[in-house]
Amino acid sequence: MRNILVTGGAGFLGSHLCERLLDRGDNVICVDNFFTGRKDNILPLIGNPRFEVVRHDIVHPFFLEVDQIYNLACPASPIAYQYNPIKTIKTSTVGVVNVLGLAKRCRARVLQASTSEVYGDPEVHPQTEDYWGHVNPLGPRSCYDEGKRVAESLCMNYHHAHGLEVRIIRIFNTYGPRMDPNDGRVISNFLTQSMQGEPLTVYGDGTQTRSFCYVDDLIRGMIALMDQDEETGPINIGNPGEYTMLELAEQVLNLTGSKSEIQFVPLPKDDPKQRCPDITRAKNLLGWTPEVDLVTGLTKTVAYYRDWQARGGVRQSKYRREG
Ligand code: NAD
Ligand code: UDP
Repeated sequence: MRNILVTGGAGFLGSHLCERLLDRGDNVICVDNFFTGRKDNILPLIGNPRFEVVRHDIVHPFFLEVDQIYNLACPASPIAYQYNPIKTIKTSTVGVVNVLGLAKRCRARVLQASTSEVYGDPEVHPQTEDYWGHVNPLGPRSCYDEGKRVAESLCMNYHHAHGLEVRIIRIFNTYGPRMDPNDGRVISNFLTQSMQGEPLTVYGDGTQTRSFCYVDDLIRGMIALMDQDEETGPINIGNPGEYTMLELAEQVLNLTGSKSEIQFVPLPKDDPKQRCPDITRAKNLLGWTPEVDLVTGLTKTVAYYRDWQARGGVRQSKYRREG
C-alpha cells in the first residue's frame, strides 16, 4: 500500500486515476482547486477511508508526506486554459516547482502529465518523442503549450540536479465518461450539441485531424509508466486512430441518431492541423497498446452524457469572459 498524491484529482482524468489507485489498495490524496474539476467526479470516492480531498491551488506551496505524485493539475480544454492564461502558465511553472520541491523533500516519484501540445502544429507526422515541436510562443495556446514545455524541462532538471525520480507522459486527446460536458472540447461539444438538437460546430473546414484515446486505456498507460523503474520518458500515450473533425461529427451523428446539422464556424488561431501519436516507445518500453476503438469508447461516453442530461444537465458556455 502506497501513499499517493493526485493533483487535479477532481478533474476528468484525475478522478479516474484516483478510482483506479483506490481499487488496487493505495491511499490517495486528491489536491484540487476545482477550477475545471467537479465534486460530482469524486462523489463516489468520498467515504472511502483511504481517500482524502484537499481544496488547494498548487501555485501555493503545500506540505504532505507521500510516496508518489501524479501531477495532473492544469486545465486541459483550450477555452478553459485561455480563460486566465497567466494562471495557466503559473500552474505549469510555479505549481510544478512546488510539486517537485515536495517530491524532493519526500523522495517521492513524480509523474508529470504533459501533452501532445508540446509538438504544437507539428511538421513531423505521426509525432515521435524525439521531435522538438513547432510551437508559437506568442499565440493564444502558448500559455498551455509553453507552460507544459517548461514543466518537462523542470522535471528533467530536478532529475539531473537532485536525482529526483520523474516520469513524463505526453497525453494525446483523451475522452470518456466524466469529461465535463461543458468544457468546450470537441467530443463534449459534438455530443451535447447532438443530444440537444443543436448544430454541430465544426471549426474551419473540418479537415484538421486528432487521434482520440479512451480514458481507461490512458489511465492504464499512465500507471504503467509510473510503476516501472527504468524510463523517465517522455512517452507518448494515445490512440493512433486518426480522424478529421468532419469524420468525427458524422460518427457522433450516427451513434446518437441525431438529426442535427453541421455548422462551419471560424477556425481558432493556431489550431494544429494534424495530430497522431507514434506509440512505438510505449509498446516497447511499457508493453502498452490501446484496446478501445472510437465507436466503443464513444458509445460509453454517450451513455454518461445521456445520464447527465437526464439529471438536468444543460449545455452552456462555461469559460467565456463576459463583454
Ligand atoms: P481537467 O480540466 O478535467 O482536470 C484538470 C484538474 O486540475 C481539474 O480538476 C482542475 O480543477 C485542476 N486544477 C487546475 N489548475 C489547478 C491548480 N492551479 N491547482 C490545483 N488544481 C488545479 O482536465 P483533464 O482532461 O483531466 O487533464 C488532466 C491533465 O492531463 C492536465 O494536466 C492536462 O494538461 C493533461 N492532458 C489531458 C489531455 C486530455 O485529452 N484529456 C490531453 C493532454 C494532456
Ligand atoms: N473543434 C471543432 N468543433 C468544436 C470544438 C473543437 O471542430 O466544437 C476542433 C478544434 O478546432 C480542433 C479539434 O476539434 O481542431 C480538437 O479540439 P479540442 O478543443 O477538443 O482539443 P485540442 O486538440 O485542439 O486541444
